[in-house]
Amino acid sequence: MKRALITGITGQDGAYLSQFLLGKGYEVWGFLRRSASAEVIDSRLRWLGIERDIRMIDGDLLDLSAIIRAVQESKPHEVYNLGAQSFVKTSWNQPLLTGMATGMGAANMLEGVRIAAPEARFYQASSSEMYGLIQEPIQSETTPFYPRSPYAAAKLYAHWMTVNYRESFGLHASSGILFNHESPLRGIEFVTRKVTDAVARIKLGLASELPMGNLDAKRDWGHARDYVKAMWLMLQQDKADDYVVATGVTTTVGEMARAAFAHVGLNAEDYIKIDPAFLRPAEVDVLHGNATKAKEKLGWVAETSLAAMIAEMVDADIARHKKRIG
Ligand code: NDP
Ligand code: GDP
Repeated sequence: MKRALITGITGQDGAYLSQFLLGKGYEVWGFLRRSASAEVIDSRLRWLGIERDIRMIDGDLLDLSAIIRAVQESKPHEVYNLGAQSFVKTSWNQPLLTGMATGMGAANMLEGVRIAAPEARFYQASSSEMYGLIQEPIQSETTPFYPRSPYAAAKLYAHWMTVNYRESFGLHASSGILFNHESPLRGIEFVTRKVTDAVARIKLGLASELPMGNLDAKRDWGHARDYVKAMWLMLQQDKADDYVVATGVTTTVGEMARAAFAHVGLNAEDYIKIDPAFLRPAEVDVLHGNATKAKEKLGWVAETSLAAMIAEMVDADIARHKKRIG
């Protein structure tokens, strides 16, 4: 039986990846940082009904000794480093913490694998945010990077450390440059989920407006359930490599919000209020990915359209709020 160790097990991708690997018969080990709110920390895993199927090991990405123990105990064939301070806006308020968890955390994981399981295959959760101030209109593996936030700078360090450990020590280490991916399990602070949750509350009469920032930014949004398959496929290849994972379709924040309101028969313009508090010190205006390499080498393509995903998210948020209010 194959064993996988996943950091970021309580996050959106950790939940979907766990579900996917359990379905393939893996023994899944989660690297879990201690929380004072232990009763809610596994809410995403519970939503998928898999919380009892995962073996948890205590640890934090900042603590190399805990990482080494986790690797020694789980004896993984595959290690997925999904843990990070992942919210771009927060990274301007907590730049050093972001550097440590998102950047140095990946270096700690690479060291842990190099020391305790050098034969294991390693996946690093890199990000399209690394393209930042885009240097080409459509971004691929060969597009130069230009990070625009402490988050993106930390991810770039982690990306190059992954490449470096592959080239220096022969680790089977791959970096997935994933464009934005969402789902009903997306953190509520990210724009898609913020919108779908607000649409649900407005529809149910629990809210009357939605404060937002820059509606003109464009993102290439896919579904997390599709994207975790690409992570796994990367680790099934004979040679480790780097891959862009994207839909190839880019949409403005405003159009995405209009689609969410329209799904329940409402008009977005009647509810959205621009609030400067949601603007950023520096913006990433456009992300638009070219995932040809993933298609040709991994046989991977995005399966879910933005419209279908937004509809799924709005419906899930309506169901959540209905359950809550009884
Ligand atoms: P989430 O924010 O949902 O999950 C982040 C996870 O990291 C949580 O499990 C969190 O634990 C954990 N974590 C944070 N800090 C630490 C730490 N110091 N030690 C151990 N664990 C920690 O992210 P996603 O699931 O959306 O994304 C997964 C990864 O992919 C992240 O690295 C993200 O940056 C990257 N990525 C995501 C994209 C997206 O669109 N979703 C796009 C490209 C890259 P806790 O629950 O305790 O907070
Ligand atoms: P990011 O691409 O990782 O930063 O993902 P987000 O979902 O946080 O943001 C996507 C885009 O939506 C960015 O360009 C934001 O500036 C824009 N945006 C506009 N209004 C909001 C808002 O209210 N919240 C968030 N999170 N983003 C917003």
